[in-house]
Amino acid sequence: DKVMMENYINQLNEAQRAPVLQKDGPMIVIAGAGSGKTRVLTLRIAYLMHQGVDAFNILSLTFTNKAAREMKSRIAQIVGNSEAKNLWMGTFHSVFAKILRAEADKLGYPSNFTIYDSQDSARLISQIIKEMQLDRDVYKPKQVLSRISNFKNSLITVKAYFENPELQEADAMSKKPRMGEIYQNYVERCFKSGAMDFDDLLLKTNELLTRFPEVLMKYQDRFRYILVDEYQDTNHSQYLIVRALSDRFQNICVVGDDAQSIYAFRGANINNILNFQKDYENVQTYRLEQNYRSTKNIVEAANTIIDKNKVKLDKVVWTANDFGPKIKVHRSLTDGEEGRFVASTIFEEKMYNQKMNSEFAILYRTNAQSRAMEDALRKRDIPYRIYGGLSFYQRKEIKDVLYYLRLIINPKDEEALVRVINYPARGIGNTTLDKLTIAANHYKRSIFEIMEHIDKIDLKITAGTRNKLTDFVTMIRSFQVLDQTQDAYQMTEHVTKKTGLVQELRKDASPEGIARMENIEELLNGIKDFTEGQQQVDGARGALSEFLEDVALATDLDNDTGDDDRVALMTIHLAKGLEFPTVFCVGMEEDLFPSAMSMNTRSELEEERRLFYVALTRAEHQAYLTYAQSRYRWGKLVDSEPSRFIEEIDDQYLEYLTPPDSNYKYKPQINSDIFGDVDKSKLRLQKPVAGTPPAYLKDNATPNLNIRKLKAVTTSGGNSTSDYGLSVGQIVMHERFGKGEILNLEGAGADKKAEIRFTVGGIKKLLLRFAKLEVL
Ligand code: ATP
Ligand code: MG
Repeated sequence: DKVMMENYINQLNEAQRAPVLQKDGPMIVIAGAGSGKTRVLTLRIAYLMHQGVDAFNILSLTFTNKAAREMKSRIAQIVGNSEAKNLWMGTFHSVFAKILRAEADKLGYPSNFTIYDSQDSARLISQIIKEMQLDRDVYKPKQVLSRISNFKNSLITVKAYFENPELQEADAMSKKPRMGEIYQNYVERCFKSGAMDFDDLLLKTNELLTRFPEVLMKYQDRFRYILVDEYQDTNHSQYLIVRALSDRFQNICVVGDDAQSIYAFRGANINNILNFQKDYENVQTYRLEQNYRSTKNIVEAANTIIDKNKVKLDKVVWTANDFGPKIKVHRSLTDGEEGRFVASTIFEEKMYNQKMNSEFAILYRTNAQSRAMEDALRKRDIPYRIYGGLSFYQRKEIKDVLYYLRLIINPKDEEALVRVINYPARGIGNTTLDKLTIAANHYKRSIFEIMEHIDKIDLKITAGTRNKLTDFVTMIRSFQVLDQTQDAYQMTEHVTKKTGLVQELRKDASPEGIARMENIEELLNGIKDFTEGQQQVDGARGALSEFLEDVALATDLDNDTGDDDRVALMTIHLAKGLEFPTVFCVGMEEDLFPSAMSMNTRSELEEERRLFYVALTRAEHQAYLTYAQSRYRWGKLVDSEPSRFIEEIDDQYLEYLTPPDSNYKYKPQINSDIFGDVDKSKLRLQKPVAGTPPAYLKDNATPNLNIRKLKAVTTSGGNSTSDYGLSVGQIVMHERFGKGEILNLEGAGADKKAEIRFTVGGIKKLLLRFAKLEVL
């Protein structure tokens, strides 16, 4: 045991060892990408335990739950599983959700409060804007929601808002004088529904720790050692929680890299890292300089990029690793061709160099870019997995089930109720729902409570409909009785049958309908796994409420079991902290990356540059930067220029696979790294006659523009985003045409169309891959 610990410590370099060995006091580790910050945190925890610190007294906060799980399993290898199990580890949201449940009554919340996801929040905001009869073009729900989110993360409560003339003036100036009222309504509605949104999990924790000194003392005493990874991306709310909890023992260790701060747009505050020294007394500052992840070419190129930023801490990053291959730059004509280049490169690497799929990551600036990549990978039969975007739990058919389950746990949950009260159809129409909503607002009660007393309130609802409402209440109540004894799996199986959800889905025999049914089965499998896992722990039941807690905070990264071999596709934001042997940064074009929306100020541009730094430093061995000369954006083909970020890299680190001359067309791929020692005569055969496309285009025999026409898409290949999660009868919002009802859906995959009757403008047929529809 002791020897093993020593071995681990000896593997560290001297700079890394120091923060591991310092047991007490505040410390900060500031270091560039790949220098072992996360590794230091991991070993520090193991070493604390080795020195006799109780696992129950250690809290470590990570950026994803997946990161927490990985850390825990490494620590388990060193100190043993039974000890590691007791560590408090996870994201801010998951750790503090747990604490809030335990203390909910103090804040007037039920301990079974629901956690609203961003879809729930967005629907509620839309609903409130509608009820207040405000103009949706002025009060754009998404903007309103992100403003409210910023308030919360800066700890500006409704009360504080109304006491702050400057904030009110700012909203009035941007033609939204009623922002405060929306905020107030939103907060009241969430409270009435027994629901917290993501930001509440932090805001309410702060409230708890400020208003109840005895609670603060209790958790200060519990969390004697606190560790935070990716500290540069904590927001004000998170900062205050960490400060409060660590105030008593001051055993706080944060690690981060100011050059990787990429969440300012969501309220992350880089000053948290810059001011750490001022916040505590006798802070030890450690710097790590040696990068272990990447080749010299990558490390040095990344250094030259971040050098262009003015706001930064001076840091040295070097590596003893090989120079490695240069960063490869590739230009293509269209985004479709870009996808084919990436897919064929992966294909060849696998063929000639026995690479695994999981050694590749494709990183992009926006989720929309994944489609061209998916198309190309599918054509090459390369398994992939998309992280982010529409996750499994956000698919419509899955959410329908989850809404029922949420309602059982917390019948006040208004978002859940409005989604399922008439699905499957049971004759409770919108007019009835409107009346119930009005009554609920009026009495400041949940809709479910109004329904329970429907016979005592005069809402001009017919006796027939009242019966239907009562039946619904009875059904949910009967589920609640079962929930006392059954596990999550038994409950879900029962609910999907008894509500008619399964029967409803079975009616649809189209491939999409069958895929939806399969998804429900997949959900049941997942729940079975969950309950069986839970039941192995000291006689636990694997109750529904526990399962829902897991799901509410699951991100896509979390579901990654890591045991299947797939290419990873994700936004750069999601890739933070991860590493892959080969990384493709695609869509390296002006206005896309850096994003057109983030070039107005120097600080925005610097954040984009940090994002590029994050992207490039994910690569261990080989990085590709690819761009297209034209690309479909918002349904239009637009011309694009290569990103300034490519130019910012010194040429000595780059290898142009296609000449950077934009007049040059169709250059064959002769890639010595891929082919190794190849017969030159064969290469010559590949040289194109004028106008002939290169080999990788020929393989697919598909003309450029037609590539976007896809065959029917099944959902078997990872998380396909081609299933738009829409169904007939849904009310949707379109950016230009406004509100409408889906009358019909036809086609499949990229050709899927919806016929929509818009309130203004009549019936229109829209291609779903271009129509940005928001389900209301
Ligand atoms: P990021 O800033 O991207 O989060 P990081 O600073 O957290 O990076 P780690 O992920 O901890 O860096 O380490 C990067 C890689 O280097 C990992 O694969 C890790 O195992 C390896 N590594 C770190 N320190 C050492 C070491 N002393 N010897 C060998 N490998 C190391
Ligand atoms: Mg890290």
